[in-house]
Amino acid sequence: MAIEDLFKVVKDRSKADSKPRPEKQKKQAARIEIPQGLLFKCPRCGAVAYRDDFERNRSVCAACNYHARISYRERLDITADKDTFRELDAGLCSLNPINFPGYEQKIAELREKCGMNEACVTGVCKIHRYETVIGIMDSNFMMASMGSVVGEKITRAFEYATAHKLPVVLFTASGGARMQEGIISLMQMAKTSGAIARHSEAGQLYVTVMTDPTTGGVTASFASLGDIIIAEPKVLIGFAGRRVIQDTIKQQLPDDFQTAEFMLKNGFVDMIVERKSLRSTLSKIFRTHNYTRDGDYMGGAAQ
Ligand SMILES: [Zn+2]
Repeated sequence: MAIEDLFKVVKDRSKADSKPRPEKQKKQAARIEIPQGLLFKCPRCGAVAYRDDFERNRSVCAACNYHARISYRERLDITADKDTFRELDAGLCSLNPINFPGYEQKIAELREKCGMNEACVTGVCKIHRYETVIGIMDSNFMMASMGSVVGEKITRAFEYATAHKLPVVLFTASGGARMQEGIISLMQMAKTSGAIARHSEAGQLYVTVMTDPTTGGVTASFASLGDIIIAEPKVLIGFAGRRVIQDTIKQQLPDDFQTAEFMLKNGFVDMIVERKSLRSTLSKIFRTHNYTRDGDYMGGAAQ
């Protein structure tokens, strides 16, 4: 079925009825009926595509290259070699350290809805056969805000990578610190930064991939500490919000302020890589940094 067929106006079911119909009924007769979830409409350019096609294209709009936000599962599927992911610290769950009203219930609901215990999943996988520690933040879970568990998982992921001499790839996405955990949340900035420093001192590589949106305390700590910082096209990267900055400095900000492109121009991001090229780019970076692929051996590399 062609996509246009879905927009066919529903025919008036009572043609035999020759009486003029009231205005309301006419409107109902012209309603468009589209099965739910079948189509994706791009929020940037308005193009419509079959959802299956859109998802096969790694949730990137074929018309304007809009990179939609994706879940950690989707990210893992398109990044890691098949069946190589092994999760670390899967059981870690948030407590309610400052007794924030309703926090436990909110976490319980999100765990159910998102199928994950916290806003970040970490583990070990292979990318183009290079063994690596991977961390993925999922903005569906409380805007991937950085609470104690997110900070702890990232810290432990780096400690694991340091002990096993592995590189780390972190896909960042976050609204920033988690206000429901108050100062405990802010402490994660120092803790993660310490673990990253020890990983770096041990001579290991850390690649950040900034995805939409990377903001607040996450930008101000581990997201910005990558040896190589990659961003997906047009993602939002910032610390404070645009309006807050504008009102504070009383200056008009450029239109592309806080986009990946603006950050690249100003030296904050090293490269912008489209989702379809990420795996091969990471693989090249690992090779450049002398990591050995599974299956390679001294004297010749298997292809
Ligand atoms: Zn589009």
